[in-house]
Amino acid sequence: MKLSAIQVDLRVALLYAIFGGLWILLSDRLLAALIPDVATLSAAQTYKGWVFVLASAFLIFFLLRRDLILSQTAENNWRESRDHYRQLFENSIDAVLLTAPDGSIYAANPAACRMFGRSEEEIKQIGRGVLDASDPRLAPALEERARTGSFHGELTFLRGDGSKFPGEISTQIFKTKDGFERTSIIIRDVTERKRAEEALRESEARYRNLLEVAPVGIVVHSEGKIVFTNPAGARLLGANSEEQIIGKPITEIIHPECLEAAQARIQRMLAGEQGLYPVEDIYLRLDGTPVNVEVMATALPYDGKPAVQVIVTDITERKRAEEEIRKLNAELERRVVERTAQLQAANKELEAFSYSVSHDLRAPLRAINGFTSILARRYSANLDEEGQHYLDNVIRASVRMGQLIDDLLQYSRLGRSGLRHESVSLVIVLSEIVKDMQGYLDELHGIIKISEGLPSVVGDITLLNQIFTNLLENAITYRKPDIPPQVEISHQREGEYVIVRVSDNGIGIPSEYYEKIFNIFQRLHSEEEFPGTGIGLSTVKKAVELLGGEVWVESQVGEGSTFYVKLLGG
Ligand code: ADP
Repeated sequence: MKLSAIQVDLRVALLYAIFGGLWILLSDRLLAALIPDVATLSAAQTYKGWVFVLASAFLIFFLLRRDLILSQTAENNWRESRDHYRQLFENSIDAVLLTAPDGSIYAANPAACRMFGRSEEEIKQIGRGVLDASDPRLAPALEERARTGSFHGELTFLRGDGSKFPGEISTQIFKTKDGFERTSIIIRDVTERKRAEEALRESEARYRNLLEVAPVGIVVHSEGKIVFTNPAGARLLGANSEEQIIGKPITEIIHPECLEAAQARIQRMLAGEQGLYPVEDIYLRLDGTPVNVEVMATALPYDGKPAVQVIVTDITERKRAEEEIRKLNAELERRVVERTAQLQAANKELEAFSYSVSHDLRAPLRAINGFTSILARRYSANLDEEGQHYLDNVIRASVRMGQLIDDLLQYSRLGRSGLRHESVSLVIVLSEIVKDMQGYLDELHGIIKISEGLPSVVGDITLLNQIFTNLLENAITYRKPDIPPQVEISHQREGEYVIVRVSDNGIGIPSEYYEKIFNIFQRLHSEEEFPGTGIGLSTVKKAVELLGGEVWVESQVGEGSTFYVKLLGG
């Protein structure tokens, strides 16, 4: 029951009368009980009467001024909230328009001016002109507003320069302090949001298209079940359609052999471990047949739930090729072993052959040598000049043949009798060789100079002897007529290698023969010009290569040659 104002006032007056009466009655009694002295009691009662009068006077004053006090507070409150609203209005990033019931705009905030590219005055003038009249959503929106008094939705708006933009609009009726009806319109420019939505839609469409046409399977599983597959994924798993796969537990598509490891990986990935590394797995098709796959998985929520997206590639063909290569490699290895064995056998045979050849050739050669020397000794007096000349030729030829046999044997034996790889002092090797050649050198007034500080190299002392004996003999042999041979042995370092240089002042070698001279039997001169068999440098090359090194020459015809031997430092 709602009481009228007069009823309320009457009640308050009645309550006051009761309270006053009770106060007078009870307080008098209380004072009488407390104060026995009559004079003091009378004084106390007087004070009490004054206190009562003052309290009543204050109450009457307050009641008389109450309306004024309250209305001032209300005025203050109203001002404060108006200021707040103005702040909001001024600083809002959304456009705010205030309209009168006839639809005219009487206020537009700064955001509205920025949004429409117009001044507040212009906005007020054009009113509904900020709306795009060609927007088909406009008429229903206005109708809804007229019917319900408010509208929330999306419309197209016009800027001052004629361009359009999409905006979210919300209208609301409110009452002013004086009781007039007004409408507030809030507009938010959603161009950016629309653009982002469009970009998202496009990228989603691209993603879907990719999924559709991708030649690799893309399968998503969540909570142990397949929740998505693209057509390639379905095909890979032997299904005709994606629906046949969706809903299957992953335990049915991962081969039991790989299941435990796969599940551990999935757990780790869902716990936050970086995925996407390729792993080989075996999957099962719908008919239960296994298929070799390579998977790249990554944790990616699906429909708001934790899920794993797996890119699955069928690697059956690759596996088959790998197996083929493995088999071919094994076959190749077997053949290499077989061939090596054959080659070793052939080498042994060749060695035996060269021994027997040398032996068999040596016997008749010895006979020739023997008989020619008997001829020379006993019958030279019986031979005329021509006969003597022929005999000399036979003797020379047999000596050369002996040399040829020795050289060939040396070449074919190279490295056969177990190679040693030890640190060998070049100074010792070269000094020995020079010492052996000293007699011949003196005859020719030649010198071989060994530079200071020649290092040690890793090698086999016999091979090193053969290498440098051949090089030094050539350096002396291929000298210029009437010029004493001068040979210098020096070195340079190149990383862990040592390059030994043997330089002479001989006849030199034309550059087109720099490589050919290392071939067996390759000679640049006749036997008459310079004696030799054409095997020396091929022996040098073979020996250097057996030691893992290199040999080459640089030369200047008429000036001299330098042979370079590169060997591992020891
Ligand atoms: P050989 O000395 O028995 O003929 P090599 O194989 O030692 O056989 O040398 C091949 C050829 O290279 C020689 O015939 C010679 O023409 C050329 N040759 C080798 N060393 C030198 C050198 N130091 N100076 C000039 N020519 C050389």
